[in-house]
Amino acid sequence: MDLLEATPQVDIDSTLRVILSDAIEALEGSAGVVASWNESGRRFVITHSQGLTPRALERLRPLLDEALPDLARSKRSFDLLSDLRANPLLPYSECGSPLNPFMVLPLQVGSKSVGLICVLRRQESAAFTGVDQPILDAFARQAAVAVYNAGIAQVLSEEKRKIETMFEGSAEGIISIDSQRRVVGLNKAMEKLIGHSREDIVGRPCHEVLELRDWQGESLCYSRCPMLRRPEKISTYETQGTIRTADGQDVDVAMVYSMAPSPSGHPSAVINIRDITRLREVERLRSTFLSMLGHELRTPLSLIKGYASTLSMGDGKLSQGAMRESLGVIEEECDRLTKLVNRLLLASQLESGMPVLHKEHVHLSSIAARVLRKIEPMAAGHNLVSDFSEGFPVLYLDPDLMEEVLTNLVENAVKYSPEGGRILVCGKVDRDIVEVSVSDEGIGVPLREMEQIFERFQRGDNKVVRRVRGMGLGLYICRYIVEAHGGSIHVTSQVGVGSKFTISLPLACSVMTEKDG
Ligand code: ADP
Repeated sequence: MDLLEATPQVDIDSTLRVILSDAIEALEGSAGVVASWNESGRRFVITHSQGLTPRALERLRPLLDEALPDLARSKRSFDLLSDLRANPLLPYSECGSPLNPFMVLPLQVGSKSVGLICVLRRQESAAFTGVDQPILDAFARQAAVAVYNAGIAQVLSEEKRKIETMFEGSAEGIISIDSQRRVVGLNKAMEKLIGHSREDIVGRPCHEVLELRDWQGESLCYSRCPMLRRPEKISTYETQGTIRTADGQDVDVAMVYSMAPSPSGHPSAVINIRDITRLREVERLRSTFLSMLGHELRTPLSLIKGYASTLSMGDGKLSQGAMRESLGVIEEECDRLTKLVNRLLLASQLESGMPVLHKEHVHLSSIAARVLRKIEPMAAGHNLVSDFSEGFPVLYLDPDLMEEVLTNLVENAVKYSPEGGRILVCGKVDRDIVEVSVSDEGIGVPLREMEQIFERFQRGDNKVVRRVRGMGLGLYICRYIVEAHGGSIHVTSQVGVGSKFTISLPLACSVMTEKDG
């Protein structure tokens, strides 16, 4: 990224070299230096020299440190030269002859001294006179401007570096657009977000790169582009929409345009872009959840209300059978509501972090038998069977959570095989994996739904599923619990023939075989 033009440091450097060399020549000197004033160190630092050996420069340094700061700041600098002339520390030239006549002038910018320029002659040369001073003064003025510019260039380059660090380090994507709506620059986060490298897109129209659309899929890049406004001062504009990445993916984003007016009337802009896909997903889930919950609550509540009204209006004239039936429905619906609330609580518990597993040595076949006993009364048309292989190991698991998993799977097997049929809970060991499966002869799961039914609030999309009550949380909870035990769950199925949900757990969570136990 190049936010600022490259600073002409090299030019300033060569300008100072030329000024120094011209000053030495004009004053018939044989050496010279330019030093700049370092404010933080409060000393002069030699930046350019000519005709001086490193050793000679060394000898000059104490002079700069001690005598010359005063000299450079004095308007009467020329008068002080006689004091220096006697200084035994004065340096030697590159060819070894002592440099004695010595003239130095401050580099003044306004009232500020930004450095000094110094010309030295060989000992045998004539001393500097008042005629020489205006000559060096003319060079000093040019050098002062160059040193001053070098200082500004350094500050600018430091600021540039800071801005670039901020720009590149920002976690948000930033892209800058010129008044003709072409991409000027972008940071790393932006490259990552859109999957284009800056080489690919700098100079291209931004509508080609971002393809911004609203939530209905309508383009925002033409008639509704914020950059079509003509702001009179720097102004910001926020919008949300979908952009398309290099590999054709849609990403939901929030964008803040900071627009600056330009002479053409159309603004240039820096746009901050944040990926809000996750946020929108959470919003979507929340509204799905509320509508599912509303739906799930309405049915039992209206049944309870209806039967309770019948009971209260019957005025004691209801037959025993009708009363028993009404109370039975109320009780059943209350149980259903309790189960729903428990499932919601469990899902929220699991989501708030890894569940704490209360592990014990568990006979899964006993848990399966208990689950089947519990569900049998609700599965009149089904044949519930449990088949665990001989020597099936005792496992070290959370028994309550595992019972929840098997209950969900067997209940689903019943719910989604309305014609009845056999439901088999089977346990076996395959090499170092323990497998427990629940199979049914029900409606089956279409291939396209096999992954998504394990996600929150995802239900199959067919008539039978719609007729069956559910919130799409059971399999999500199952997967969460099984994964918390280090295992996995998957489904194999054939539509209209049946489904088999298989839990695989590492044999490592076994401790001994049931026979041993
Ligand atoms: P719910 O049963 O409340 O809808 P689940 O998370 O338990 O929620 O199941 C999600 C979806 O998976 C169901 O809506 C259904 O489409 C499908 N499904 C689950 N179990 C079976 C099964 N045994 N046979 C066919 N489809 C099933």
